Parts: sequence; C-alpha cells; structure tokens
Amino acid sequence: MVVVLAYSIYTFAIITFCLSFSVLQKGIRKDRINQLCFLVTLFSGWWSLFFGMVLVQSDPDRAAQMRTLGQIGTFGLLICITHMLAYFSGVQGKMKTWVIGFAWLGVPLYPFTVQKDNLVFEMTSYGMSYRMSNGWWSGLYTLYCVIIPLNLLLLVIYMLRKSIRKRERILAYNLIISIVIVALGSVLDTVMPMLGIAAFPGSTLGQFVGVLAIFQTYLYYKKFQMNLENMSQFVYYSVDEPVFLFDEAERLCIVNNGATVFLQMSAEECCKLRMNEIFELNRDVFRFRGVKNRVEARCIQNHNICSISIDKIYDDYKDIIGYIVIVHDITERVHMMEKLDQERQRADKANEAKGTFLANMSHEIRTPINVVMGMNEMIIRECEDDSIVEYAHNIQDASRTLLALVNDILDFSKIESGMLEVVEEAYSLKAMLRALEKECRMRAEDKGLNFQFVVPEDTPNVLLGDEVRVRQVLLNILTNAIKYTMKGSVTMTLSYEKKNNKEIQLTFAVADTGIGIKEEHIGRLFDKFDRVDEEQVHAIEGTGLGLNIVNRLLSLMHGTIEVRSKYGEGSTFTVSLPQHIIEDRPIGVLHEESGKHEERKKYVPQFVAPDARVLVVDDNKVNLTVVKGLLRKTQMHIDCVMSGKECLEAVKWEQYHVILLDYMMPEMDGAETLQKLKEMPNNKSMDAAVIVLTANAMSGMKEMYLEQGFDAYLSKPIEGTALEQLLMEYIPEQYIVKSSEKSSDL
Ligand code: ADP
Repeated sequence: MVVVLAYSIYTFAIITFCLSFSVLQKGIRKDRINQLCFLVTLFSGWWSLFFGMVLVQSDPDRAAQMRTLGQIGTFGLLICITHMLAYFSGVQGKMKTWVIGFAWLGVPLYPFTVQKDNLVFEMTSYGMSYRMSNGWWSGLYTLYCVIIPLNLLLLVIYMLRKSIRKRERILAYNLIISIVIVALGSVLDTVMPMLGIAAFPGSTLGQFVGVLAIFQTYLYYKKFQMNLENMSQFVYYSVDEPVFLFDEAERLCIVNNGATVFLQMSAEECCKLRMNEIFELNRDVFRFRGVKNRVEARCIQNHNICSISIDKIYDDYKDIIGYIVIVHDITERVHMMEKLDQERQRADKANEAKGTFLANMSHEIRTPINVVMGMNEMIIRECEDDSIVEYAHNIQDASRTLLALVNDILDFSKIESGMLEVVEEAYSLKAMLRALEKECRMRAEDKGLNFQFVVPEDTPNVLLGDEVRVRQVLLNILTNAIKYTMKGSVTMTLSYEKKNNKEIQLTFAVADTGIGIKEEHIGRLFDKFDRVDEEQVHAIEGTGLGLNIVNRLLSLMHGTIEVRSKYGEGSTFTVSLPQHIIEDRPIGVLHEESGKHEERKKYVPQFVAPDARVLVVDDNKVNLTVVKGLLRKTQMHIDCVMSGKECLEAVKWEQYHVILLDYMMPEMDGAETLQKLKEMPNNKSMDAAVIVLTANAMSGMKEMYLEQGFDAYLSKPIEGTALEQLLMEYIPEQYIVKSSEKSSDL
C-alpha cells in the first residue's frame, strides 16, 4: 500500500516536471504566463516529490526534513497560482494588492509550519504521517489555507463579471473546477491533522489534479492568445491574393485560400504543381540575385495576366529554406490600360484630323484672298485711271480686313484646341513697330485721326520673343482704337523697364479719344464673341473675338493687359510684356519723317535685276499670274511651272537663282520636291535658294519649313513689297540694281 501510494505520488511529480519542462521549451523569457505556468508545475512536482518521500520514511527526523523541503513546494505553488489567476483575471488596484500580498504571507509563515516541535510524526497504514500540535501558528496556517482558495475564487468571480467573450467564461469555469479540486485535496492533509487525525496525502493528489486542470486552462488560454506568430498565420490565410509557399527544392508545399480560388483547384491538387506548370515562366525563375524578384506572366490554368513577386526565405545561417510567391491578378488593369491606350490613340487621331482641317481651311480661304489681293495690287500698280485705282484701294482695305478676320477665327480655334504655341526668335523691335505704324497710320489718317507712336530712342532694339504674336496683340488693340474713335487721336506710347541685362519689361499704352467703354462693361471685354455696348458698336465691323485672343496670347507670353476708359471720352489699353534682350543697341528715331501723312504713292520696284532668273512653282494658274505680275517691274526673267515634276524637269535645263515653291501641291508636295531637288545629280540650280510659298499660316509652321531645308518662308497672300525684299536677300548681289538705298534694321 505504502509503496503503491509513494510511487503514484512520484508519478505525479514526474508528470508535472514534464509539464514544466514543456513550458520551458516554449520559452519563458518574455512571456509572463509561460513563466507562471512553469513555476506552478515546477512547485507542484516539488511538492509531490518530497511529500511522497515523507510517506516512505521510517525515521521521523528524516520524514520531518522531507516535509520541510516539500512545504517549499506548497507555499511556492499557492503563491504562483494566485499570481497566475490574477494575471488571467486582469485584476488591478487594491484587490490585486490584497490577493497577491496575502499569498506572499506564506513566506513568513513557512518557518513556523516546519518547526519539528510543532509536529508529531507517526507510522500509519499508508506510511509515515504527521499531526500538528495546536498553537497559534497552526491557526494562522489553517486561515491561510482557507483564505487562499477564497481569494482565488474572488479572482475568478471578478473575471466572470468582466468577461464579454465566451472563451473568457469557459476559462473562468475551468479555473473554478481547478480551485475546488485543490481545496478538497488539501482538506485531507491540512485540515485533518488540525483535527488531530493523521494526515492522508490527499492534498498532494488534489493539487496534482488541480494543477493538471490549471495546465489545461493555460493551454486553452494560449490557444486564443493573439500573438504575432498566429496573427501572421491569420494574415496568410486571410489575404485574398493567391499565396504559394515553395520549399528549397522548388516544390509547392502550402497554398492559401486565395490560391485555391484563383486556380480553381483543391489545396492538394495545387501542391502537385510546379511553378512553371502554374505560370508561363522558365524553370529558372527562382534563380535570381537578391532577396526579391518581380515578374509578369500569364497563368496557364486560367490565362489571367499576373504580377508575381517571389521572396527568398532564409534560415538563421542564411541558407535558403524556401520561396514565398505572392500573385497579383492584373488582367483587368492590363485590359484597362490597353483600352485607355486605344482611346488615347483615337483622341490623338481626332486631334490630328482637327489640325489638318485647320491647316486646310487656312489654305483654302487664303488662296482665293491671295488671288484677289494680288490681282488688285496689279490694278493699283498699272491702272492710269485714278477713280479705278481708288476702287482698287477700297478692295485692298476690305481684303485686308477679311484676311484679319480669317486669321482671328483660325487663331481662336487653335487656341481653343491648345495648338497655339509661342515661338521665340530674335527680332528687330524697330522694324516691327515701323511696319505696325505703317499699317495703322493709313487707316487712322483716312478717318482724319491724329496718329502717333511715341517710342523712347534708347529702347534696346534686338529682342527675343514671338514677333508675330506681339505684333498681332498690338495690331488688334490699335485697330480697335482706330475703329472705335470717330475724331481726335490715337497714340501709342512705349515705355520700358530693364529688369537686368537680359530681361526687359515693355509697356505699350494705346490711348484713344473714342467712344469709350462703360465701367460695367469693362469686365466683359475679354469674353469671347462678346461685343459690349451693342447699340453703339453695331455699325462698326467686328466679331467680338479680338480682345479674347489678345488676352490669351498675352497669358501665353506671360504678359498682362489693363483697360482704363471714360465713357464718351476715350480709352487706354495698356499691355505689359516681358521680353529677352539680345542686343542692347538703341532703337533710335523710329520714323525719320514720322508724323507726316504718307500719300498713297505710285508703285516703284525696290530693285531691278534683268539677268536674274526665278522659277515659280504653283499648281494654281492664277497664283502664278499674281507672282509674275507682282515681279514684272523688277525685270527679272521669271519661269512658271505647275507641279513638282515640272520643276524637276526645269532645273535640268536652266540655272535659277531663286525657286519660289508652293507647299501644298497634288502628287508631289513642296517638301518632296525640295528633297528630290537636293538629290538630283543633274540639277543645274543646285545653288538656288528655295523659298516656300504657303497659305498655311499656322504657328510653328515657319520652323517646320526651315527644318525641312527651305531657305525662307513667305506666307500667302503674298505682299508685293515683302516678296521683293526677300528676293533681294537671296538673289546674288551682282545681279541687283537697287532703285533707292534703304537701311536694314536687323
Ligand atoms: P470686336 O471685333 O467687336 O472689335 P474685340 O474683342 O476686339 O471685338 O472687342 C470687344 C468689344 O470691346 C468691342 O465690341 C467694343 O465694344 C469694345 N472695345 C474694344 N476696344 C475698344 C476701344 N478702343 N474703345 C471702345 N470700345 C472698345
């Protein structure tokens, strides 16, 4: 009986030591609950071991020594169980201090409970046992042994009250059972000896079963404890993206739910596949430098396009133990991108079509105006009848207005479609202002207005900017000023401020004594198609586009415009514009005979060159007549042909000094003709300057023509004076006899 009992108790000890060892294996360094469970099982084993030894002793002194050691386990266990339950319950404050503090009272109590004088050892039928003599310490010990389970119950009740989850309630019920078992066991050998009955090692049995129950509770608690390790497992399973884990031999071992859904296979079926059986990839996809590789491939099973990231997993010794493959299905994105690309291409085509339409429109409208203006110019030059010349001047004015209108509409649509660009080049401010003055003076003086340009003589002359657009802005404002002024004057005053050696801010103030603008209308001036004060201006031609274009051009050139006006008295439009200085040479006197009324003079050619040869190429017969007519008085020898092909033929036989080449021609256009001219081995006119004539006046075109290899560019409708000036530049000097000496400004 004694031996059986003793060995049973040793078995308890071994079991609980094993449990404490298993907790130790899990690691107790940073895990409080593991530490407590380790101590609980350790003290439980300790208790069982030494109380088991008490049983088999025949010598009371040896038995007392064993009990002394065993009692360490008893107190240790009770203190640690209290800590463990306090931890489970999450109790804080006074209650925690009380239960923990009370449990630690066991430490000062321990010496009294092991004093040999207080114990009587005797042999019983179940081995060596003992009784305690009555005394105050035994009363205290009894109280301790009763209050500890009550404290533990207190903690569990607290836990039950606080619990909100089912698992916390189950945990609490498990603990109640454990406490009851421990308490019942201790009755046998703690309370019985106090009643004078020999102690049966029932508490050893009780604490063992109780500790088993507590260990079970501990495992249950651990299962639900959210730590990083099992959290990451949840992450792995819960991500929707397919995740594949391959071992170092590149065999698929684990897949998540996302992968089974993606491949439409069970996890077992998935795991039979190799990487190159899942994706259209080479076998060596896992052989890459570094830790991470990203590839794109189509899935063989479902034909989806995937972005695949492959990460190497290393062990502590930096050897590869496997690969983690995360797959992003990008099929939809790829399709969307393709669709967007198609849309963009379609939009680009539409935009291109719009551009071509604008270029064609520009060409189609300018060609007939060219004819009208050219023919008209010839009437002015050649007609002797003054009244007919006067009619022709009227046609000239109307044609110019019509041309300006067409230009406005074309510019407006270019701006609207974002196709208008500012092209900066060096230009002579003086030449620009002189041309502008000439153009406006005639109109102003025809109306009997006093017209004046005030330009400081020290203004730097050679600037960098978009001359065409600056001129267009000023012309628009000056034309308006002349249009809306019935009597009085129109004056343009230039002032400037140098920001540094390279930059200058030009300010043009155009003041008139015209109809003026009502204050409430000033804000609307720059709206498109808006003609303010309709009843006043309806008799004056206009579209309401001019100022809108001016404003947009200025903002493209980083300029500003301001308006000041007094209704009935006049207006001042002030344009401020930054430009770059190329040369600081002062502009000087703008017009030597400035301010004088320039009569419409009889035409005199700027030069004559009887030995110069010019070839004109245009598919429009009337245009040829116009150019020929415009140049008649220069006495040059002019040949005309009507296609690129004929041009190539002509240069085989004749050495021309200049070729005027139309750009838009059927079959072979200007660019192609030029190319062929340059490649021809038997071209006698290899040294001839090729000037492109075009009705396509879109901005940026000039650069395109020069880039294509043309020497110069002349926009239709061709102006007789401009044409002569250009020819003078390109015909070799020895052929030219100038009719009057004029200084060039640039
Ligand atoms: P429009 O083709 O009608 O001249 P603009 O856009 O150039 O179009 O001008 C818009 C309106 O601004 C004109 O219709 C006119 O009412 C007013 N306006 C412009 N300049 C002047 C000015 N110098 N004096 C009085 N009114 C002007």
